Amino acid sequence: MKPTIVLVGRPNVGKSTLFNRLTRTRDALVADLPGLTRDRHYGIGRVGERDYLVVDTAGFDPVAKVGIMHEMAQQAERAIEEADVLLFLVDGRTGLTPHDEQIAARLRRSGRPLYLVVNKAEGLRREVVAAEFHALGLGAPLAVSATHGDGVTQLVEEALASFPLDDEPAEEATRGPRIAIVGRPNVGKSTLINGLVGEERVIAFDLPGTTRDAIEIPFERGGRHYTLIDTAGLRRRGKVFEAVEKFSVIKTLQAVEQANVSVLVLDAAQDIADQDAHIAGFILEAGRALVVVVNKWDAVDDYRRELVKRDIERKLGFLSFARFHYVSALKGSGLSAVMKSVDAAYAAAMANLSTPRLTRVLQAAVTKQAPPRHGVFRPKLRYAHQGGSNPPIVVIHGSALEHIPTSYTRFLERTFIEAFRLKGTPLRIQFKTAH
Ligand code: GDP
Ligand code: GDP
Repeated sequence: MKPTIVLVGRPNVGKSTLFNRLTRTRDALVADLPGLTRDRHYGIGRVGERDYLVVDTAGFDPVAKVGIMHEMAQQAERAIEEADVLLFLVDGRTGLTPHDEQIAARLRRSGRPLYLVVNKAEGLRREVVAAEFHALGLGAPLAVSATHGDGVTQLVEEALASFPLDDEPAEEATRGPRIAIVGRPNVGKSTLINGLVGEERVIAFDLPGTTRDAIEIPFERGGRHYTLIDTAGLRRRGKVFEAVEKFSVIKTLQAVEQANVSVLVLDAAQDIADQDAHIAGFILEAGRALVVVVNKWDAVDDYRRELVKRDIERKLGFLSFARFHYVSALKGSGLSAVMKSVDAAYAAAMANLSTPRLTRVLQAAVTKQAPPRHGVFRPKLRYAHQGGSNPPIVVIHGSALEHIPTSYTRFLERTFIEAFRLKGTPLRIQFKTAH
């Protein structure tokens, strides 16, 4: 499981600047998708060998609780409690403030591993910085410059040193698709899980482990094995599952990260909310296969159904790679079709793409539509091979590939998806230019 880094600090110390730096490599992968709205408070990142989730609690002040949106404050409080590592940012230019001290007191109470980060430290002397913030009693501060990037790699390495490197689990193949069922509170996730799992054979459910471990629920349906990755602290009560915890953004993101396929549940009785789009954006950022379930279809009339479909087209157009199902989890209708799409999305995410075929498809695509010239540069795409699965990564070799515009990359993505019939998974393209 990727560790979760949570950024805390008073306004203006540079949290969002550091957040952007910590998530930049991933950003490029999903940049410019039309209609994609992302929550700039939650992201995935990699620095050096280290993969992590990162949460920016910006906009939330853990001390002054007046006048902030309730849900946001709750999620920030929860983020502090669920953090693997807290990074407490202070401003090296303005120095220590009483507000910093109040936040420090709150963070200490959480008992989570805590690092003091002095930002805007470019050009400042270490001893001066250390002396200034010593009074917080949080040990030696780590000096960084979020805008310049100084000290950021060391910061991540030090903060995450005690976590194992995130290796791909090798035994995945034998247990079938790992599925995360995600969505806002009350859309019907527990009901759907009971519809999918409840009647079927649950191989083992009441798994031990601390609250920090993700709970996995293996089950069998139609003779196939699956594993559910829990997002809500599910417990078995009698014959059914019940969410014992309220909605947690971090748990949702962790579940998506650990799953092969995400099932995003929407509520047909409600309009698509920003939070739906944010979760969807995160699934895309994580590169996970996706099936969308529009639930409570029994509870809405034809007029509403039309509205919902239009709302989805308008707000979630960037999910056109996924299959959509209109179901009633309560009545159990449409669930077999959902599982068929889960199987298909999983197969697409894990597909083996042969080098000769990839290269043939690439060459046919270039013949049909050559990449545009960029000034004196004329990008040449020579051959392609597979660079990874879940999501499938197509590595394209050639020259001047850094001049290929995003629109052409999207054209290539669509071409590969169609040629290999990869319905249900995003696909990524990496360019390798020979110099
Ligand atoms: P947040 O409110 O904590 O999210 O802070 P922001 O990331 O929005 O940054 C607040 C201001 O500090 C912006 O004007 C940033 O450009 C500036 N800033 C952030 N990091 C640095 C840094 O490392 N050095 C300097 N000099 N300024 C920075
Ligand atoms: P969760 O918070 O996403 O796990 O949502 P729950 O599964 O707890 O469901 C929230 C509410 O929606 C409950 O009252 C369910 O009975 C109801 N519900 C769930 N699925 C359906 C459905 O398909 N149709 C209708 N009419 N109600 C549903």
